[in-house]
Amino acid sequence: MSKLVQGYEVVIGFETHAQLSTNSKIFSRAPTAFGAEANTQACAVDMALPGTLPVMNIGAVERAIEFGLAINAHIAERSIFARKNYFYPDLPKGYQISQFEIPVVQGGEVSFFLEEGKETVRKTVRLERAHLEEDAGKSLHEDFIGQSGIDLNRAGTPLLEIVTQPDMSSSEEAVAFAKELHKIVTWIGICDGNMQEGSFRCDANVSVRKPGQPLGTRREIKNLNSFKFMQQAIDYEVRWQIEEIEDGRAIQQATVLFDPDTGETRAMRTKEDAADYRYFPDPDLPPLVIGRDWVDRVKREMAELPRVMAERFVKDYALPEYDATQLTQSKAVAAYFEATAKACGQAKLASNWIMGEVSRRLNASEMVIEQAPVSAAQLAALIGRISDNTISNNAARQVFEGLWNKEGEVDAIIEAKGLKQMNDTGELEKIIDEVLAANPKNVEEFKAGNTKALNGLVGPIMKASKGKANPGQVNALLMKKLG
Ligand code: ADP
Ligand code: MG
Repeated sequence: MSKLVQGYEVVIGFETHAQLSTNSKIFSRAPTAFGAEANTQACAVDMALPGTLPVMNIGAVERAIEFGLAINAHIAERSIFARKNYFYPDLPKGYQISQFEIPVVQGGEVSFFLEEGKETVRKTVRLERAHLEEDAGKSLHEDFIGQSGIDLNRAGTPLLEIVTQPDMSSSEEAVAFAKELHKIVTWIGICDGNMQEGSFRCDANVSVRKPGQPLGTRREIKNLNSFKFMQQAIDYEVRWQIEEIEDGRAIQQATVLFDPDTGETRAMRTKEDAADYRYFPDPDLPPLVIGRDWVDRVKREMAELPRVMAERFVKDYALPEYDATQLTQSKAVAAYFEATAKACGQAKLASNWIMGEVSRRLNASEMVIEQAPVSAAQLAALIGRISDNTISNNAARQVFEGLWNKEGEVDAIIEAKGLKQMNDTGELEKIIDEVLAANPKNVEEFKAGNTKALNGLVGPIMKASKGKANPGQVNALLMKKLG
């Protein structure tokens, strides 16, 4: 059951344009690099000069197949390119080559974890389709006074438009989905995932309804170029739609833009229907035929997928599913974990440290794991010193801090900071005897059956040992002395 907002159910579906990381355009040989001088990367095909013909870029098709395999979709053996007709200055052909009735990737699903209150739940969003299409050029309004410029460098850049079913029911779930999708496309390397440069553009379709009612009318929020804006935009849109309905106004289907400065969404245009585009099969391109052997070869050559790797982590390292999913957020994190776990032989401890201390430090310094000053080998050495009882967990955090600040290797830091646990029973017993003598009340209470009184003794003992006593050993000795 989805959670309600002021008595309304929220319904969200995503359309995402992932720019495919090919070197050349989808139907021409012009390069796709970002940031070049205007119109230096548009060839005759991209400019729609008369008599030019599109030629399919096999690399773009291969990336679509990889995506389909990654999300367990059906790869169509025969898909069709269609013309989506509309007039816009940055679209010189007067139509965009896309796929309409028969897309290359059909169905599939994306699963991820979501925190709901105190619980972590697994969500699955069904995909409707993913199709190949070309990007349009760009209209430039800011560089000119009273005029607009057209830059056709982007025209013909290969895109995979990925469309979900309306399966999401909160902004948190929508953001978690978008992050998972982003992880998949960057992991398999079909898209660089750069949201600022527009390589991964999400449109969120949002509607609300009273439980049990049919789907409400949706508004589509365009071009959400950061996960933070995505959450803000959807939250604002949901509140706005509920207010409209509560005030007795009907929602009009529309395309809206999010303004990060005001935090509001604003209608850009009322939305066209598919009929307005007068789609028809493009006579310039033959059907796209993908044989089983092609799909099989791509499958064989593909790197291990995040969900497959996560399943292997559960099996090989006896990790909880949650840990395995967190550790496969990126290839680099997964590699760091495997190297640490193999070197120290303590997979769960390695996982705890990476999801805990390591990621906390990375976040605080806005770094990714590739930049971490602590190597997997160093973390493994640190974990080794915890499990052989040389240092306590508390001391280990100080050693980690030392490693992070490049103060030296694990043993040298333990030595320099005097963090070795006291494993000499004689010395520890002396401290315990002193603490017992100084706290007769706690001793009495404990003997009378109040087990909590023990805490009042352990604390001063740890303090007197400057944190170097081994808590397990302290407990054992205390129990022995107190009978
Ligand atoms: P279009 O291509 O015209 O935008 P689609 O049928 O392809 O229309 O749907 C686009 C997206 O909108 C899909 O992700 C779909 O899941 C979502 N969607 C459809 N109906 C609704 C609705 N009532 N509320 C929210 N999202 C919806
Ligand atoms: Mg669509």
